[in-house]
Amino acid sequence: MTTADDADTQIGHLELEEVTRAFGDTVALDRFSLQIQGGEFVALLGPSGSGKSTALNCLAGLLPLSHGRIMLDGQRIDGLAPERRGFGMVFQNYAVFPHMTVADNVGFGLTMRRMPKEQRQARVDECLAMVRLDPHAEKYPNQLSGGERQRVAIARAIAFQPPVVLMDEPLSNLDAKLRIELRTEIRKLHQRLGLTTVYVTHDQSEALSLADRIVVLNHSRIEQIGTPNEVYARPANAFVAGFMGYRSLLDAEVLSTRDGDADSANVVVRMGGVELSGTAIGRLSGSKASVALRPEDVTTVPDAGPGIIDAVVDVAEYTGREYALEATSTAGLTLFFYSDTSHAPGHKVHLAVAPERLLVFDAVHGDAATVAAEVARV
Ligand code: ADP
Repeated sequence: MTTADDADTQIGHLELEEVTRAFGDTVALDRFSLQIQGGEFVALLGPSGSGKSTALNCLAGLLPLSHGRIMLDGQRIDGLAPERRGFGMVFQNYAVFPHMTVADNVGFGLTMRRMPKEQRQARVDECLAMVRLDPHAEKYPNQLSGGERQRVAIARAIAFQPPVVLMDEPLSNLDAKLRIELRTEIRKLHQRLGLTTVYVTHDQSEALSLADRIVVLNHSRIEQIGTPNEVYARPANAFVAGFMGYRSLLDAEVLSTRDGDADSANVVVRMGGVELSGTAIGRLSGSKASVALRPEDVTTVPDAGPGIIDAVVDVAEYTGREYALEATSTAGLTLFFYSDTSHAPGHKVHLAVAPERLLVFDAVHGDAATVAAEVARV
């Protein structure tokens, strides 16, 4: 079986250049450009309708491009039929053959490639062991659970050592516990085999935990490309922030800015009647801005004072490790934070945010409520 240091199925790089796909007047994917290195795990992340599946289907060869090209190690491949590209594919609805046993499903691609029987048997056994399905080799898909069926699909996709594996929301039909289990298995398989993988999801936690790099899509366009840490800690704009778990997106007025490096407080805003220091991301073009806050960056302090937001707790939810709280400020802002101690509804709190964690974006995408509505499309 291929390993990360087994060079013969490892690609050098896969390049998408301005890949565009229109359906009539609808542009489903608009000039999508991305370079993927061999062995990389890339997640395409975005709300429903943002163009993720279109990008994946263009890569797979299931959709012709309207414009642009796809290069694999310097060879143009966008004119090739799916089977000539030879990519492994896993879709959300399992798509295993119901009339074939688990072992025959996994060996399907090998049979098609006329691999000799003994060699095929060995490869099938190895792949089944990798996804822990060896005891189920002779069963039929309808005798398996959803999670097991999806593991068959994954084993089938990797069995023929494809140059690239494409996965379209492979975990979305599974319950929460299985989703996390199988996510870990996918990560382990990738660590072991090093197969170049493109993975579509609308779930930010899946993208963060699996990918080496994340491509955030919205309205058919790329909003940001970065490592999980980059998109999480430094979202490029208010949309990405909203999508990456910055639960509060609030309208603010810019009072003053000063030059400074991107990691230090360089802007003062007024938000809900309180003056706060923050960090501008990108250029602020006017006096209107959107402020993004993550619950983990909002803390309670003992006393009121300048730069402190006074609020009243609305809801406290116990999460097992801590409390997740929602509070409303005196001026009506909704804020989210975590605490080790519970606060009863109606309890007054004083909230602070470190200036380097109060991210200030240009309000180019419209006001914060519009961005929040966009994010809610998920
Ligand atoms: P995602 O995978 O992010 O949910 P898609 O790539 O499926 O998004 O769709 C992107 C956009 O293209 C959507 O507006 C969708 O309605 C449109 N679209 C996708 N497939 C077709 C099609 N076959 N015909 C017309 N419009 C399509």
